[in-house]
Amino acid sequence: MTMKKPNATYPVTTTSTPSPMPPQILDPSIRGLSFDQLMQNRGIRFIHKRAVPCPNIRSLDDNTHNPNCPFCDNSGILRYGEREIIGVFQSNSLQKLFEQQGLWEVGTAVITLPAEYEDGTQADFNTFDQLEVTDFEVRLWESKEFEPRNNNRQQLRYPIGEGGIDFMSSVEAGVLKVYEAGVDFNIVDGVIEWVTGKEPAFDTATEIGSVFSVAYFANPVYNVLQHMRELRVTQEMQPDGTKIARRLPQEIMVKRDFLVNPAEKLASAE
Ligand SMILES: [Zn+2]
Repeated sequence: MTMKKPNATYPVTTTSTPSPMPPQILDPSIRGLSFDQLMQNRGIRFIHKRAVPCPNIRSLDDNTHNPNCPFCDNSGILRYGEREIIGVFQSNSLQKLFEQQGLWEVGTAVITLPAEYEDGTQADFNTFDQLEVTDFEVRLWESKEFEPRNNNRQQLRYPIGEGGIDFMSSVEAGVLKVYEAGVDFNIVDGVIEWVTGKEPAFDTATEIGSVFSVAYFANPVYNVLQHMRELRVTQEMQPDGTKIARRLPQEIMVKRDFLVNPAEKLASAE
């Protein structure tokens, strides 16, 4: 017995929907002129902080890092040397990432950056370097325990931006309390300053304060995961006919800091 062949015809429709996949993945970084134009049109400012392993460990034999390290907020990474640099988020980063590595992760992006800072010194990027976007803010959330301090101030993971605190609440004696800016707290130098008498409860017997959840606006911070290419160099012809080596713009893969390391940092010193 043979199966009947499918023979139903379907109506022909025209469509204007283009394929979601690009016909080719453009890599703007290889072409100097178009890369400069890309920077002018779509570049945004980053603060680049370089990274080294935190040296606050007892010995290299056991790598025991001081659990209350004040130098790296217990992240194990010491960051130094802030420099400003203009780079571009690749709009096709996700497709590109998917093609190159077969993974599609939330919070990762590819940023194209020039080989040099604006003053002509070489810019290089390494794993655990940080890039902070200074010109826009995103909404983040965080849970903390209230800690009484002499100056009544408490800091969040990131400095609170101009967008301020969107929402903050704790549960006090079974009731959800919402804290209002200007009434219960103020924002001073990017940290919370509780109004005396309005702060969350603190149990002096257990020395544990109420947990509060806060949504706030801050500049997004990205950690460098890896280079898409280790080192890119080309030859450049000089006017006198000699050739020199020149580094090309670089592509690096980054991930939002919040997603890399969700653990809360230790409370800062007062
Ligand atoms: Zn440390």
